[in-house]
Amino acid sequence: MMGVTPADAAKASIEAGAHIIGTNCGNGIDRMIEIVKEMRAAAPNTPVLVNANAGLPQNVDGVDVFPDTPEKMGQMTVELVKAGANIVGGCCGTTPAHISAMKKAVK
Ligand SMILES: [Zn+2]
Repeated sequence: MMGVTPADAAKASIEAGAHIIGTNCGNGIDRMIEIVKEMRAAAPNTPVLVNANAGLPQNVDGVDVFPDTPEKMGQMTVELVKAGANIVGGCCGTTPAHISAMKKAVK
């Protein structure tokens, strides 16, 4: 989002002493799969964490609504793990129902 590539962020974080690298919030869980693949390729031996938001919020009648359902985030979490994510959680718009669906999908 700020012009730093996932590979460069991974390498710089490790050089600075990070034991875990990762990504959070941003553009939603769809984009996270490619980010994880790039981080995994740049840092094959470092755990990768992902805390995705539940999609880009939409303002509906003055209320921010996050479009990604628990079911979608569950399905996408399986893809995140396949891409190399080791630790997965949620950021803006995720609820306990999202986290529960993500856990169930991975199991
Ligand atoms: Zn967030």
